[in-house]
Amino acid sequence: MAKEITSRSENYSDWYIDIVKRANLADNSAVRGCMVIKPYGFAIWENIRDQLDKMFKETGHVNAYFPLFIPKSFLSKEAQHVAGFAKECAVVTHHRLMNDPDGGGIIVDPDSKLEEELIVRPTSETIIWDTYRTWINSYRDLPLLINQWANVVRWEMRTRLFLRTTEFLWQEGHTAHATKEEAVEETLKILDIYATFAEEYMAMPVIRGIKTANERFAGAEETYCIEALMQDGKALQAGTSHFLGQNFAKAFDVKFLNENNQQEYVWATSWGVSTRLMGGLIMTHSDDDGLVVPPKLAPTQVVIVPIPKPSPVIDEVVHKIMAALKAKGIRVKYDMDMKNRPGFKFAEHEMHGIPVRLAIGERDLANGQVEVARRDTKEKTQQPLEGIEQYIEDLLVEIQANLFNRAKAMRDQYITKVDNFNDFEEVINRDIPGFISAHWDGTTETEEKIKELTKATIRCIPLDAEAEDGSCVLTGKPSQRRVLFAKAY
Ligand code: AMP
Repeated sequence: MAKEITSRSENYSDWYIDIVKRANLADNSAVRGCMVIKPYGFAIWENIRDQLDKMFKETGHVNAYFPLFIPKSFLSKEAQHVAGFAKECAVVTHHRLMNDPDGGGIIVDPDSKLEEELIVRPTSETIIWDTYRTWINSYRDLPLLINQWANVVRWEMRTRLFLRTTEFLWQEGHTAHATKEEAVEETLKILDIYATFAEEYMAMPVIRGIKTANERFAGAEETYCIEALMQDGKALQAGTSHFLGQNFAKAFDVKFLNENNQQEYVWATSWGVSTRLMGGLIMTHSDDDGLVVPPKLAPTQVVIVPIPKPSPVIDEVVHKIMAALKAKGIRVKYDMDMKNRPGFKFAEHEMHGIPVRLAIGERDLANGQVEVARRDTKEKTQQPLEGIEQYIEDLLVEIQANLFNRAKAMRDQYITKVDNFNDFEEVINRDIPGFISAHWDGTTETEEKIKELTKATIRCIPLDAEAEDGSCVLTGKPSQRRVLFAKAY
């Protein structure tokens, strides 16, 4: 039997890493902070990517590709941007190796020093806006709605598989607009796509909000985000959409001729989600038996296990069921492995989070029945073979909805309104702290003081926060609305 995983109650972090490894999602690599995404993990990421890509294209965006390297001078053109990213940049200084004349093995050839050092992109605003200068001349060239799927590097000091890695995969959208209104509208449209994707595909409820100045993207005027709550009561920033104002247009001198024949700076947005979403998916739904994948993103939605092993009678029925399920667009697999017993296979399929398992033995078939097990509730029932494809199609819809409802019920249960700092400290130190909804005086100073005292940060100012007069939970100064605090990944 395969190695058991740590239980969530014993150690949530170990549980998470055990799932990533035992469910064959990813491995650590020889390079600290970088991961190897394994085929099963990559198959889930591909489903995430394909669906998001579809949603971007449906809203008029197109894909392109820009270089991995950014000249150092580009990065420094926007002052806030470089200040924000300077501490986590990988820098290329040379382009050649040589044999050490003193016998020290392979060394960097000192004669191959680059005239200008190159930064491995931590994000691509600078190289893209340098390109946009040549692409944008008049209002007819706008809007420019471009996305790229790429890898980026941020030299993170504390890494964790998927959630925070030194190199990660993501998409980054970079759009250019003639007006501020249009750019703000784009920023919110993307936030809506992210939230819809998180909730309808990942079954992960999210709160839409605005980041405080302190947590804003370096170079943005406003950062919008979606925030999710993990089972251990810590928040995860799952996606960001930035309104960049004219900052990058000014830094890279990108102007357009408007309809009145006047030169104006272009308005910009950028937005991204990354392989961090995989971490969010795992920590929203999975349990002590392994991964749980929502049906819409599961590489295999239904697995059929013959009891106790394949036989001509069973195979014939299975092939009919598979054809009927495939005709409905359901991703189904027949586990014909002869080396392992059904009990072992059941545990493996549970570990990999396959939403539905059918177990078919000759005795069941004689009764016109099959056993159906669902991964979300672990419930097993006998179902008539007749019409099984319709039953399964409906069941997948039900599982998807159940996962969302379950996660939302948990999330809602862990949003606590707090009105004084004693209560704040009590709630934030609970085993499952969750979100704290509290008044804040609007200053970075208070935000940082609270972080220092409790490790909680302001996750966002929820977009639907109602105006409410109150006083700051730390300083007692006046506040007009509540914000959400949490410890975060
Ligand atoms: P940003 O460009 O900082 O707004 O980040 C864009 C997206 O990438 C956000 O959804 C972040 O959650 C995600 N992200 C940022 N840093 C990392 C990292 N080190 N590993 C994985 N995802 C990240």
